[in-house]
Amino acid sequence: MTSLNQTLFEKSQQLIPGGVNSPVRAFRSVGGTPIFFKRGKGSRLWDADGKEYIDYINSWGPMILGHAHPEVTKAVQEVVANSLSFGAPTGLELEMAELINKLVPSMEQVRLVSSGTEATMSAIRVARGFTKRNKIIKFEGCYHGHADALLVKAGSGLLTFGEPSSAGVPAEVAAHTLTLEYNNIQMLQDTFAKIGDEIACVILEPVVGNMNLIMPHKEFIHGLRDLCTKHGTVLIFDEVMTGFRVALGGAQALFGIKPDMTTLGKVIGGGLPVGAFGGRKDIMSVLAPLGPVYQAGTLSGNPVAVTAGLTTLKFVQEPGFYDRLALQTKKLVDGLVLAAQQAGVAFSAQSVGGMFGLYFSKTCPTSYNEIMQADKEAFNKFFHHMLDSGIYFGPSAFEAGFVSASHTDDDVAQTVTAAKKAFSLLNQ
Ligand SMILES: *Cc1c(COP(=O)(O)O)cnc(C)c1O
Repeated sequence: MTSLNQTLFEKSQQLIPGGVNSPVRAFRSVGGTPIFFKRGKGSRLWDADGKEYIDYINSWGPMILGHAHPEVTKAVQEVVANSLSFGAPTGLELEMAELINKLVPSMEQVRLVSSGTEATMSAIRVARGFTKRNKIIKFEGCYHGHADALLVKAGSGLLTFGEPSSAGVPAEVAAHTLTLEYNNIQMLQDTFAKIGDEIACVILEPVVGNMNLIMPHKEFIHGLRDLCTKHGTVLIFDEVMTGFRVALGGAQALFGIKPDMTTLGKVIGGGLPVGAFGGRKDIMSVLAPLGPVYQAGTLSGNPVAVTAGLTTLKFVQEPGFYDRLALQTKKLVDGLVLAAQQAGVAFSAQSVGGMFGLYFSKTCPTSYNEIMQADKEAFNKFFHHMLDSGIYFGPSAFEAGFVSASHTDDDVAQTVTAAKKAFSLLNQ
């Protein structure tokens, strides 16, 4: 019997490149057929064939309350009746700006956009306009959306500017981007000592979620703040994933660091397209219409998308929300680690807030090189065994996972039971 999933994927490949609208969805890393979904409720999803899953992707982070949350759904339905878009200001955008400023105080001024990519791309333009410098620093393994200047792989060795990591990006564009090693403070210090005063901005994921989950070393992230301050370089925390995910105030609240600019996305849209960038008022004042840096968007601050975000953010502010979410996420990773130990599989895992990393390596990796050494084959087998058991993890060994507020103890128990079976099958 051919499954509907299979049929949909075959037909999609005729009309949509690779059958998907974003590459990781294609299951290229793990092999097999991507799942086409029809419905979600809370922690659960149902695919085109009616099979049920426990969801640990949560749309890559946004669905922090779980799927089809009744109040979010209701708020969206109500606002839809007042028109889908005005292309003019609304009070909802002000409410969102006030809320972001209250919860992430380093964002003294904020502008809304429609994706994380737009947020990071615009933040970099602002940082360059403000400093009147061209060079930017990013880190290996961090993802900041698909803007040209950010699709750059490391040059070989210190101070070699990058080459494009994607076709279609001119070398001239990549030439201003320097890619350094995450958690390597020495490399950062050496770079700043040589060309610190030419660097417009440093952009990083303050907890990395795009090469699986990597935690920053304390001396790295605090040292970075000091170097940027000393050299007048704009420090941009890309919190598109970590914002309202690792803690109410994002990773900057967790580490007690004030970046000059912050980018947000994912959770602030609650599942609809919203991004935001903001920061110091003097920096944000270079933006049009006040200043010379141009940035715009027909659907920016869209009332329906902003309503989904505002309603989602109402719930995450409830007392104890992040404590409960972090505890539930920790229960999951602890259960998986124990199951792996019992099966004798080299495995480690960690969590921060509602985000987690699973690694087929003895200890949790702290760098791009270490994560590259984890056992990818073991992950791929584990992934498919879990999928068969109705547990939906990210289809790549290099993605973080997400727990929502609607994941119950039963969900965790069912996942751990499935993992016991999957780990035992790995040994055969
Ligand atoms: C997802 C993500 C982006 C890109 O956001 P899109 O909405 O997919 O454009 C940028 N930065 C980080 C850290 C992300 O996780």
